[in-house]
Amino acid sequence: MKIVVTGGAGFIGSHLADALIVQGHEVVVLDDLSNGKTKFVAGLEGNPRFRFVHGSILDRPLVKQLLAECQVVYHLAAVLGVKNTVENPLKVIEGNIDGTRNILEVAWENRIKVVFASTSEIYGKNDALPFTELSDRVLGAPHIHRWCYATAKALDEHMCFAYADKGLPITIVRFFNTYGSRQTSTQYGGVVPKFIVAALTGQDITVYGDGEQTRCFTFIDDAVGGLLPCMDPAFDKHVFNIGTTYRTTINELALQIKRLTGSTSSIVHLPYEKAYGEGYEDMQNRLPDISKAGAMLGYVPRVDIEQGLA
Ligand code: NAD
Repeated sequence: MKIVVTGGAGFIGSHLADALIVQGHEVVVLDDLSNGKTKFVAGLEGNPRFRFVHGSILDRPLVKQLLAECQVVYHLAAVLGVKNTVENPLKVIEGNIDGTRNILEVAWENRIKVVFASTSEIYGKNDALPFTELSDRVLGAPHIHRWCYATAKALDEHMCFAYADKGLPITIVRFFNTYGSRQTSTQYGGVVPKFIVAALTGQDITVYGDGEQTRCFTFIDDAVGGLLPCMDPAFDKHVFNIGTTYRTTINELALQIKRLTGSTSSIVHLPYEKAYGEGYEDMQNRLPDISKAGAMLGYVPRVDIEQGLA
């Protein structure tokens, strides 16, 4: 099949592009390189079944042109990262809502399959009962910039559901803290590459909050293994959690990385408000139920955190 991967020069998208090429598909990567890197898809250059297009999902004529030629679009392009959501909320909202609307509208015109990359963050924080006008919570999330990403992705999902009801074939995947090679350690990168770079360069490994918050880190090969079958029509109108059920505290993660790298870096703690400003809150725990993905997609995460980090 001919498949467009938006955000395909990014972390997850570039691994997906590799896997789709191995499966024999034709792949067109559309990426504006705001966070992606051409070197992540350099290994595919020269392959007659691969094409890289430098451009934006906000460029409607370009999206129309590319989607008219394909049967499936994996829509992974997004503006993400906690620091981004705190510092550039409008960019996050525009990129994630306008961009996804473009993809869905053009996919509808062409009646092509969409696999949409959503996030565990849409589960939000719902521990603030009772609801009052003053509780400063909207959609179960504190009304602070941290959550504009989650809210934008939740709205994207609602757009997907609405198009799915009209008959567009759509599958939604909610990723939980995916990590692996090509995840950048830039200011918007995830905690794993940040800790690894700090450990390897002898800088402090900075843990936000008390470090007892837990995440279920998912190795990239497992995440791609969950994504690949989603293009099958059998999974239209379904939502899948793609994660692991093994919880790691951020303190444990820091210690594991320190040990694996043989680093002498210190592990230091920084209160959330010092890192992200007043009013910042984070989810204490995230834990996916992955039984549906297991039963339907045959999804079984195989790489534990120790192996993945190594
Ligand atoms: P990433 O930043 O590496 O990939 C996103 C890519 O989208 C980047 O290459 C970026 O350059 C590109 N992009 C951004 N705006 C664009 C635009 N307007 N037009 C074209 N390209 C654009 O991030 P990732 O971790 O690979 O995330 C991929 C998807 O998975 C995203 O939709 C993200 O929301 C979702 N997700 C990731 C995780 C995770 O743990 N990595 C967790 C939950 C959800």
